[in-house]
Amino acid sequence: MVKCAVLIVAAGRGHRFGGEMPKQYRTLGDRMVLRRSLATFCAHPSVSCVRAVIHPDDLPLYQSAAADLPVLEPTFGGATRQDSVRLGLESLKQENPEIVLIHDGARPFVDFGVINRVLMQVKQGQGAIPALPVTDTLKAGKDENGNIVITRTVDRSGLYRVQTPQGFPYREILAAHEAVRGQELTDDAGVAEQAGMKIVLTTGSEDNFKITTQEDLKRAEILLKGKDDEIRTATGFDVHKFTDGTFVTLCGVQVPHDQKLEGHSDADVGLHALTDALLGAIGSGDIGLHFPPSDNKWKGADSAVFLKYAVHLINGLGGKILNADVTFICERPKIGAYRLAMIERLSELLNISASHISIKATTTEQLGFTGRKEGIAAQACVSVKM
Ligand code: MG
Repeated sequence: MVKCAVLIVAAGRGHRFGGEMPKQYRTLGDRMVLRRSLATFCAHPSVSCVRAVIHPDDLPLYQSAAADLPVLEPTFGGATRQDSVRLGLESLKQENPEIVLIHDGARPFVDFGVINRVLMQVKQGQGAIPALPVTDTLKAGKDENGNIVITRTVDRSGLYRVQTPQGFPYREILAAHEAVRGQELTDDAGVAEQAGMKIVLTTGSEDNFKITTQEDLKRAEILLKGKDDEIRTATGFDVHKFTDGTFVTLCGVQVPHDQKLEGHSDADVGLHALTDALLGAIGSGDIGLHFPPSDNKWKGADSAVFLKYAVHLINGLGGKILNADVTFICERPKIGAYRLAMIERLSELLNISASHISIKATTTEQLGFTGRKEGIAAQACVSVKM
């Protein structure tokens, strides 16, 4: 997979916005403005890592905005936005991504569609930025005794309003930023243009606006009120095979058995299926994408780590898990005696009531690999309110 880093620029002090609190830390609905875009990028299946560039004074606010989200430590910005982006890009050297997406922390409604369209172009080796055509008629004007008087009509054809995330090949945009140090350019595409990089425009979204003024925050609140709650349902499925051992771990509970399940982690087939269902509900890929078996870090890992990761992604997006239903498919071991302990453990991990959790088991009438007692399959179904 192409390694894609996201840099969220949130170092501004919001002089245009007014008030004590920088706009990216204002509350919008139930979450801070910045938490919304952090959570969206963390959940995107193509994103490897997310780092915010912040003002040092805002560290406590940032920690609250990013709580529980799988983000890198933030880095501190500079005197201008351009300085902040350059410092952020330099801080990603250790991560060495192939692609970087640079996003304004004050654009909370960025969605997967906007991100996908940028990514598809950047993967071709060019810069890409989301934009929308200008639809209002444009006038040029000049001041005459305090009145603005029209001097001409500007042809709007071929003019676009640009948004973020702006995506680039990482090495190229880092070099471009280092080359223009000291010059004042309004956005990262401007920096890339100076460097002669090819940049294409992709389709942005009207909702992906930047919160700059109090009116923008009001518009954002209205937009949120207009969004109905949606219920998402998703499934997960997993299989692990038996090998020599004395117990299996199912939904976090050790069940004595004359064999164990083979796998890179603790091989908890139930938690794997459930984690995949949760990731499925938010379109966040699958467990193997977030925790590659090739990564030694997860050898022997407690699969609760994977489940909690998915729960944090959902909570970061403002989602609430409504119920979970797990079915084990195997001849042996018998699950019944451990059902309540499994429900108790899932209730803790998912932070939902035991009455909204179901554990079931079935056999395949001695047919197939589960019938031959070669392994255990599990399937899971969840509903999430977004
Ligand atoms: Mg598995």
